Amino acid sequence: MQFPLYFDNNATTQCDPRVIDAMLPCFGARYGNAASRGHTLGWQAEEAVEQSRTQVAALIGVEAREIVWTSGATESDNLALKGVAEAYAGKGQHIITVATEHKAILDTAQYLETQGRRVTVLPVDANGLVDIGQLADAIGPDTILVSVMWANNETGVLQPVAEIGALCRERGVLFHSDATQAVGKIPTDVQSANVDLLSMTAHKMYGPKGAGALYVRRRNPRVSLAAQMHGGGHERSMRSGTLNVPGIVGFGAAAQAAREDLAADAARTRALRDTLERGLLAAVGGAARVNGGAIERLPSTTNISFDGLASDALMAGMPDVACSSGSACSSASISPSHVLRAMGLSDAAAHGSLRFGVSRWTTEEEVEFVIGRVAQVARKLRALTATPKAMALR
Ligand SMILES: *Cc1c(COP(=O)(O)O)cnc(C)c1O
Repeated sequence: MQFPLYFDNNATTQCDPRVIDAMLPCFGARYGNAASRGHTLGWQAEEAVEQSRTQVAALIGVEAREIVWTSGATESDNLALKGVAEAYAGKGQHIITVATEHKAILDTAQYLETQGRRVTVLPVDANGLVDIGQLADAIGPDTILVSVMWANNETGVLQPVAEIGALCRERGVLFHSDATQAVGKIPTDVQSANVDLLSMTAHKMYGPKGAGALYVRRRNPRVSLAAQMHGGGHERSMRSGTLNVPGIVGFGAAAQAAREDLAADAARTRALRDTLERGLLAAVGGAARVNGGAIERLPSTTNISFDGLASDALMAGMPDVACSSGSACSSASISPSHVLRAMGLSDAAAHGSLRFGVSRWTTEEEVEFVIGRVAQVARKLRALTATPKAMALR
């Protein structure tokens, strides 16, 4: 086993060797600019970029020309929300999203509010799900966009995207989904879900950091988008800037690998995740519950609240395990997770949560080690808080 054991795969993933192999030539002899039209180095780069576009498009069931390259999902989310708000300003000013979205959505929506747009942030139930009836009620004549994530990055909870897509289509409202955690992990068929815009990023699916994409529907309906980055007119003028050729090539290879391995990966990670979950619930004394555990989730993710334990103390006690706490996703902040709070957890319960994400390479042995380690640290912490002498020492 190689320490620290990496169980933070919702934060980022290791590059697949197939991805690195594909990228390496782009740092060497194949260094061309994909926008250079006058020589072979440029043509080579363009060809590589277009192959990746086809690979990424195939993974989500769309056409290659509907893919816009970005620097990552944060940029894709910004481009989707700001780009639609600007392009459809003549039609309406109202955007609907959900309390458990990633900050890239919530902060962008909040920014749009300062620009005079109206934003509705829908609540979720105890499982983290948005209510379709409530969403239907929130859509008005002024609504231009609904943005609901496919899978939550903290709990893995899957939103009913197909139902949301059908509703948005029926009401003539665009539907954006931040599918960053879902793409490559579970089937994400854009057509059957009626998604009009979709955000993704390579580094959450065994690709490199700094390479993302936004799917923008071209037919039924044709989505207009106002560029947020102006310059050379790259990406059909929706996103200017010299393309990150190595990153894009890595993204393409990651998409290809995901298409080949998705079913097997999902089955393997689900089995390991379930073992981890059962093991932790049994081995760590005291009450604990799986957040969103009652409903459909990503196969690779679990988020558990341990009563009476602080996740920061748990993590400090196990430097040989990399996971993530129920405190804010933005590591600079120590506020309790807005996702868990929106699901109705108390501050204490949110601060007592740990998130584990298993990967394509996680082993049974690693899972057993983590169960043992968490149980051991939990016992120590409980003993410490139980003895008055220890309290006096603190
Ligand atoms: C990681 C993540 C993002 C941000 O992606 P970057 O490529 O790191 O900018 C956005 N949304 C979700 C759901 C994520 O998990």
